[in-house]
Amino acid sequence: MPLLALLIIVGVLLFFGGRFIVSTLHKRRLLRRPLTADQRAMIAACVPLSRRLPAQLRPRYEGKINLFLDQVEVFGYEGVEVTEAMRLSIAAQACLLIAGTTAWYDSLRTILLYPSAFRSMQKRREGYVIRERNQTRLGESWRYGPVILSWQHSREGAEDADDGKNVVIHEFAHQLDGLSGDVNGVPTLAQGQSFAQWEAVFLDAYTRLVADVARGTRSVIDGYGATNHQEFFAVCTEVFFERPTDLKAEEPALYAQFSTLFQMDPAAW
Ligand SMILES: [Zn+2]
Repeated sequence: MPLLALLIIVGVLLFFGGRFIVSTLHKRRLLRRPLTADQRAMIAACVPLSRRLPAQLRPRYEGKINLFLDQVEVFGYEGVEVTEAMRLSIAAQACLLIAGTTAWYDSLRTILLYPSAFRSMQKRREGYVIRERNQTRLGESWRYGPVILSWQHSREGAEDADDGKNVVIHEFAHQLDGLSGDVNGVPTLAQGQSFAQWEAVFLDAYTRLVADVARGTRSVIDGYGATNHQEFFAVCTEVFFERPTDLKAEEPALYAQFSTLFQMDPAAW
């Protein structure tokens, strides 16, 4: 190999290797850094659920919020002016899901905020035909980003920490689900968590919800969860964080699987 070609290859390797090391060190620094007193106060005020987080989870939680704020840009649509409090609110809700584990929203770079519910064109394949439907949405999660949210519903969802409804937790459950490669209700499970058990418990509870919806029986899990497996996972995640004792009472096996997945026990907080 000519010397010049060798030098170019070594140069390219050094360049990308150097960039990788700098970015890894930067990430590590952010993950270790605690939030400021002002940031803590803002998060405690706008995301009351975060105040319940056990002390041993706080360092990782705060580090991930730092990393989130560094990696993800939040853009306002239709007149929304994005403030520090709004960015903190979204980051603090999104990071609740990953405060107990090493999971990370690797590919997420962008969040779009609408003032309220927004219209979105949905494409759906029916046989050989693609149909388009204009739907009103509170949130949307794309496999490789972005996450699109109604700010009004994101704010209200955080303010009421006990109603089992939280659009930010819902959309980030889809993001988490997608980290396994597909958004299909099967996230990357915790180390040692049995897939066979997860699947059996998940499908059992899903079938029960579908039957409840058909009969008109109310469940702690919102009927929207009966749409498909990925919506079931997202809706159950909302309930796991916001009505954990009710979920544990009604679906103990499902609660235990979610508790292992998230490495958390919100019913005990
Ligand atoms: Zn959904």
